[in-house]
Amino acid sequence: MDNAIKEGAGKRRLIVLTGPTAVGKGTVEAKLREDHPQVWVSVSATTRDPRPGEVNGVTYWFMTEEEFARKQREGMFLETAVVHNMAHYGTPLEPVMEHLEAGVPTILEIDLQGARRVRERAAELGLEVLYVFLAPPSFDELVKRLIGRGTENEEQRRRRLETAKVELAAENEFDVTIVNNTVEQAAADLWNVIAEEYGIR
Ligand code: 5GP
Repeated sequence: MDNAIKEGAGKRRLIVLTGPTAVGKGTVEAKLREDHPQVWVSVSATTRDPRPGEVNGVTYWFMTEEEFARKQREGMFLETAVVHNMAHYGTPLEPVMEHLEAGVPTILEIDLQGARRVRERAAELGLEVLYVFLAPPSFDELVKRLIGRGTENEEQRRRRLETAKVELAAENEFDVTIVNNTVEQAAADLWNVIAEEYGIR
């Protein structure tokens, strides 16, 4: 990697937002972006199929397994993970470094495995990271949200619940916990964390 990019990173910490599946990370992130357009949220690559309404390059970079594997070999990802035993997801490295270097509040919305991988690689990349955990008000509420979304079949839901249980147990690995009682409150709490980190009033 380019040394200029490497040295420029780490002035303000990269925000890594993680939480159990279906806790509402995507919704909170969308609300945050709507209220605070100066925040940049990384666009991940994925090998899963697009859901209705999802746009390539906006929601995700949708790609084939072959394309993903090639980019992985070329070292283009900060982290990658297989999520719910089904599809590959990965964070393109260069845009993250560029936004951090420019002082733009930068967020990754990734799963627990990805957050752990970022932790492993942070020192090597000269990255400083603030780890934020988005928690549901309760496990029952999480189950309700998972079923309510209605975008998964029964087998997919079962896998996601299994993943969610493991993910919930990891809360103590994070610097900050935000409870997602309502989208508005969680997005406002997240903004407060970011504003403090980036010295924005
Ligand atoms: P979905 O397929 O529902 O959009 O996302 C499934 C899960 O993948 C979510 O928990 C989301 O946080 C995670 N995810 C999305 N992008 C990435 C990524 O680039 N890396 C990792 N490790 N997880 C991701």
